[in-house]
Order: sequence, then structure tokens, then C-alpha cells
Amino acid sequence: MPIRFYNTLTKKLDEFQPLIPNKISMYMCGPTVYDYFHIGNARSFVMADIINRYFRYKRFEVKFVMNLTDIDDKIINKAIEEKTDTKTISGKYTRAFFEDIEKLKIKPADHYPKATDNVDGIIELISKLIESESAYQVNGDVFYDVKKFAEYGKLSGKKLEDLISGARVDVNEQKKNPVDFALWKSAKPDEPFWESPWGKGRPGWHVECSVMSMKNLGETFDIHAGGNDLIFPHHENEIAQSEAATHKPFAHYWIHFGFLNIDNQKMSKSLGNFFTLRDVLKKFSAEALRFLYCQTLYSAPLNFSDDLLRNSESALKRIKNTIHQIKTSLINDGSQEPFSTKEFYSDFVEVMDDNFNTPQALAVIFDLCKEINLFIAKHENLSNQNKEQMLNALQILGGDVLGILNVNEKTDHDEKLLNDLMNIIIDIRNDARKEKRFEVSDKIRDDLKKLNIELEDKKGQTTWKINRS
Ligand code: AMP
Ligand code: ZN
Repeated sequence: MPIRFYNTLTKKLDEFQPLIPNKISMYMCGPTVYDYFHIGNARSFVMADIINRYFRYKRFEVKFVMNLTDIDDKIINKAIEEKTDTKTISGKYTRAFFEDIEKLKIKPADHYPKATDNVDGIIELISKLIESESAYQVNGDVFYDVKKFAEYGKLSGKKLEDLISGARVDVNEQKKNPVDFALWKSAKPDEPFWESPWGKGRPGWHVECSVMSMKNLGETFDIHAGGNDLIFPHHENEIAQSEAATHKPFAHYWIHFGFLNIDNQKMSKSLGNFFTLRDVLKKFSAEALRFLYCQTLYSAPLNFSDDLLRNSESALKRIKNTIHQIKTSLINDGSQEPFSTKEFYSDFVEVMDDNFNTPQALAVIFDLCKEINLFIAKHENLSNQNKEQMLNALQILGGDVLGILNVNEKTDHDEKLLNDLMNIIIDIRNDARKEKRFEVSDKIRDDLKKLNIELEDKKGQTTWKINRS
């Protein structure tokens, strides 16, 4: 069955037909690197990651590109605030971005183009637009002439007349039309700038994404994604610029992510109602956060609370309990009726194919856990083959696609069991030492060393550590 998902451009669930069979080109608007990202941004990054992982699971060859906006008013203001330059700010938060997405178990995109590495391409596109009279320059600024693009509004559903009549007219603006937007901004004193045919300046935000997406994926590509806040004007403007320059369709499919809200208000830096990912990960696991995101359809709003995250953590624990049960079940070397995971894979694919329905995908994983628990309770032990099938299914669906678990990771149970066992061994060794049975205490120490476990006796206390060299 083909995948279908909601396409903001056609405003309906479309069957997905990639330009080239089995290949997918996908672009996502990435962060403006001026601060640590918050869990609202993270929701968009994680849902794009799950879609990327799912396409790969379906054996598509995916080229996934996410840009980094590394020059922007926000970056300039932050540099002024911190009495430094924009490069220092964007460098610091680009590194933080990569650290954070790793913590969030996001599979890296195939390419992360930066706006400042693409200024030549941006100047080229703007020049083309000026040549074809889709853009005009005024005193070092270049604006896109929205009225020249007949299809303006096709993504957001907005009407140009309404936009013009509703626009705030700024008397200082030299634009032909209040809805025209900047492609190139002339440099203000002390701002970073690049030389251009229109003088010193820097690119506007919208044009950066047109250039970085087309350079990496071609003039027409499959999917463009981003948060709901970007539909208008950012994505509408990207379409206008790109299609006016190439006379070809830009992206065929547009995916937009719903907001993460707090008290039903969008989480955002400007409102100050945000939690950075770093802060949240001090209290909760990345898997729990991903689980929380998966509980809501990617396009719907999600009202965040700590309680919801606590619930996600306990729901995840239920899955981890099943994994622990499988791992600790006795092995039955004889034959055992096979445990079939096939229908769970097909149920999972059915719901994910239908608009990436992650809430339903979680339900399939819980059904699988329920069936596994019943099977183990009934049989009391597991054949190696059944054990492997169960762990594989949980790893592939919950681990590889949704990124909410890792069956190979030590569980809390494993950790506790190891601690308890070590305490027993240390007690036996201490008793042996008290009774001067040194051949026993030395043997314990030496044998543990062979397992890379080192004992340390200090102030009458024995501690242990695993040497991971
Ligand atoms: P920014 O760094 O603000 O440009 O945002 C980076 C990405 O996060 C963009 O795709 C935004 O649409 C998305 N985003 C920003 N705020 C939220 C939010 N509260 N919920 C979901 N996505 C968001
Ligand atoms: Zn963008």
C-alpha cells in the first residue's frame, strides 16, 4: 500500500508518489542558531526524524536536508547583547544544536547547509529574479514583487487582495507594495555584510531556504517540511521566489508540524513560555519526550505539561518491563509454538502509511507487549527463536522507527540486579578477609578483574567500578 499523508499544498491526504521511484528528497527548515532550542522546536525536529526513519524502514533511499539559519536579526541582537560577533554566537549554538539532537536520538540529516556558505547562490537567484522583473531594488535593498506571482497564496490559502488591504503600511517603506518582502537587506552600521551587485548587505531569510533546498535537492523535489508557523509567509514566499525563478514546481508535498503549546499558547522564545531541551532532559529521558510527541498526530497541537511527560515515562516503563521479561525468561531448548510478530509489523505499517499515525503505532506496540506478556505467562520459558523475534520486533518498530526504546540498552532492572549481585559478592569477600581466608578474597578480586570489574578498599568500605577501556 502506498503511503499517504496530508499535503498542505493540495489541502488533502495525498498518495505519495516520489519524483524518482524509491528515492525521496526532503527538506526541512532548521533552527536559527542563536540560542538553545526548546521542546517546541524539538517536536518538529523529532517528528521529521520519525518520518525520515519511517521512509528508510520502507526502504526508500532518502536524501534529507535541514538548513541552519546562521545569519539573522536574532543572531545579530544576541551578539550585541553578549558583546561578541555573530560568528561566535552561531558557532556556539550550532554546536549546541548538534549535541542536543544527538541526545534526542535524532538521526542526523544527510546535509546541513548554512546560509552564510550559500551567499553566492543567493545573489545568483536574486539577480535572476531582478532580471525577470519578479524583484526590484531600492537603495541597496531588494524586494520580491509579490503581485508578479499569480499563484501567490496557493499554499496558505491567503488571498493577495486581503493581504494587501490588511497590511500595515509603513510610511518609511520604499516597497511598491506592503506585502513585498526583502530578498536582500542593505547593511546597517556594524552589521555583518557581504558584497553584492546592490551594495553591502545580507540575504533575507526566505530566499536562503529556496537556495539551500534547490541546490541540494534540485529545482523540483519531493517534500518540504517545517512547523505550522512557517506556512505563511516563509513557505509561501519560498514557493513564489523559487517558481518565479525556475518556472517549475518547487516542492510537490508540504508537511507541517503542529505546535507544542503551553496553556494552549504556542511555546516560543518571544513569549518566554518555553523550556529548553537541556532543562527538560535534566528531569526526563529523551525517550519519554519522544514518546510524548508520538502520542499526538504530528499535525495536531500538543498541550505540554510535566504530568504528561511523567505519564509517558511510566508508559515507557511498561514496554521496558516486557523487554526485561523477554530477556530474563528461561531458555527452552526444545520446540515451542512460534510467536508470530508478522501481524504487528503489518498493523504498524498500515497506521504509519496512513498519515504517519504515531498514536496508533504506539497502540500496536502496546498490543505486541500485551501478547508477549501473555505468551510468557503461559509458557514460563521461551525458545531462542521466539525470544529473538520478540526483541527484533520491539527494536525495529519502537527503536529503529519511533526511537523510543533500545532493547540493547541496560534496563533499570539490569542495573539494580548488577548492584545487588555486587553487594553480595563484596559481603562474601569481606567475610573471607575477616576470617583471613585470603585465597577466597583474592580469588574474588582477581576473577572480577578478568571481567573488568575493579574493587577498591578505602576507609573500611569497598566500592566497585567497571573499567571500560
Ligand atoms: P526557529 O529556530 O524558531 O526558526 O524554529 C525551528 C523549527 O521549530 C521550525 O521548523 C519551527 O516551525 C519549529 N517550531 C518553533 N516553535 C515551535 C513550537 N512551539 N511547536 C512546534 N514547532 C515549533
Ligand atoms: Zn526555511
